[in-house]
Amino acid sequence: MEKFYITTPIYYVNDKPHIGHAYTTIIADVLAHFWRTQIGEDNVFFLTGTDEHGAKIAEAAEKNNISPQKFTDNISTLFKEAWHNLEISNDYFVRTTDENHKKIVVDILKTLKQAKTPQGNDVLYEGEYEGLYCIGCEKFITASELVDDKCPDHNKVPEKLSEKNWFFKLSDFLPSIKEKIESGELIIYPEGRKKEVLGLIKQGVPDISISRSNKSVSWGIDIPWDKDQKTYVWVDALSNYITALEYPAGENFKKFWPADVHLMGLEILKFHTLLWPAMLMALGVELPKSMYIHGFFTIDGKKMSKTLGNVIDPNELVNQYGAEVSKYLILSQFAFGAESDIKIEDFPIKYNADLVNGLGNLVNRVTNMVEQYMDGKIDVDFKDMNLGHEELKQLHFREALLTIWQVIAKDNSLIDQEKPWVLAKDKVNGEARDGGLGHEANKEKLTKILQELTLDLYNIALSLKPFMPKKSKEILDIITAKQIKKPSEPLFPRLQIK
Ligand SMILES: [Zn+2]
Repeated sequence: MEKFYITTPIYYVNDKPHIGHAYTTIIADVLAHFWRTQIGEDNVFFLTGTDEHGAKIAEAAEKNNISPQKFTDNISTLFKEAWHNLEISNDYFVRTTDENHKKIVVDILKTLKQAKTPQGNDVLYEGEYEGLYCIGCEKFITASELVDDKCPDHNKVPEKLSEKNWFFKLSDFLPSIKEKIESGELIIYPEGRKKEVLGLIKQGVPDISISRSNKSVSWGIDIPWDKDQKTYVWVDALSNYITALEYPAGENFKKFWPADVHLMGLEILKFHTLLWPAMLMALGVELPKSMYIHGFFTIDGKKMSKTLGNVIDPNELVNQYGAEVSKYLILSQFAFGAESDIKIEDFPIKYNADLVNGLGNLVNRVTNMVEQYMDGKIDVDFKDMNLGHEELKQLHFREALLTIWQVIAKDNSLIDQEKPWVLAKDKVNGEARDGGLGHEANKEKLTKILQELTLDLYNIALSLKPFMPKKSKEILDIITAKQIKKPSEPLFPRLQIK
């Protein structure tokens, strides 16, 4: 792989960032770091950003007595701050209210208006959109927003209403999309989600309305040939993956497109796996290589909800554990793609077990022994054993961490079994111990054990780089120094658990 382009979804600014957003952004960050170590900094592009148009945003802004732009500026800043606090290494942050993004979306719409489907039909056509309309809200609402069949804000049953919209002729693209998914040209992971998408295609997916009248959506990008209509959600949002690269002529577009990995949550699966490839085909642009979908999150076994008060603010985690430890604690708990329960209650226990007693203790013991018994000097042939690489390439984050932690556990028990301090004591006294090992033999054995441990630490630190770049560097600096010294302060201070 000579370049790597990874994206998170752009997050909708109707709410501030929570741990679900953080999870997707963290895994993108780990992969970006990993590929930077493999193919070089300049060959990786990591994109995240915010989705800022729509009636909901306009409403929320009105409630807060500010303009929609001011409202989205505020929330978008909260996302930027949260990622800054988590030490996320994105190369660009796209906003759908950026002038550049809006301009390119208008160009994309114009191109789509001219384009034909594989069957020779117009890609965009005028049609009747029928939906549930709340007169109080003055907008269409979806069935999922209703409470007891009523608009929760107005306690009224919405009317069925139709309006003229622009539609995307998705059905004409489905056979090609199906073929590309089946052949693996477009990878959808996990396997269960791929089957789900193929199932959807088999059932038949209705064409998608891509606009709304100005009456129902006032905050959005104008349909360039129809001033009564605004772009509705998906053409605007999905295009971010190429507008951020300055499609069609930008250097970054030429260098980084197609995306290697689009990351997303389950709720946007359909639009990403069907409409987005169809849009790209209509534009004559190559499809992304893969889409990785993760399931819903629960917190300590419960659904995340404002009512339960269990919506976790990533900034709070960072305040408590620091950025790198927070990322470790989140990623080490469950496999990617699974329904994921974030056990916040277990974080302190896991911190002490894995980081204090596991990694921190190993670094302390090894560096202490090398300092004490070898005068800090040890001859090690530092080889990269690519620990956890295969797992990371497959996006198996927890498994990559488990591989690293198996080495940590192995080394800690090796020390317990071999008791290098006994060998060292024998060396100091110059007397043969029980078991027949003589002075020189003990010295040799001790050196071998410490060489093995130091080489392991080197590899542990290297493989931790994508997850904990700062801690990784700290460890590497210690063990590759001319003279190894035990760190003056523990790498991970112990947490007092009440
Ligand atoms: Zn209403």
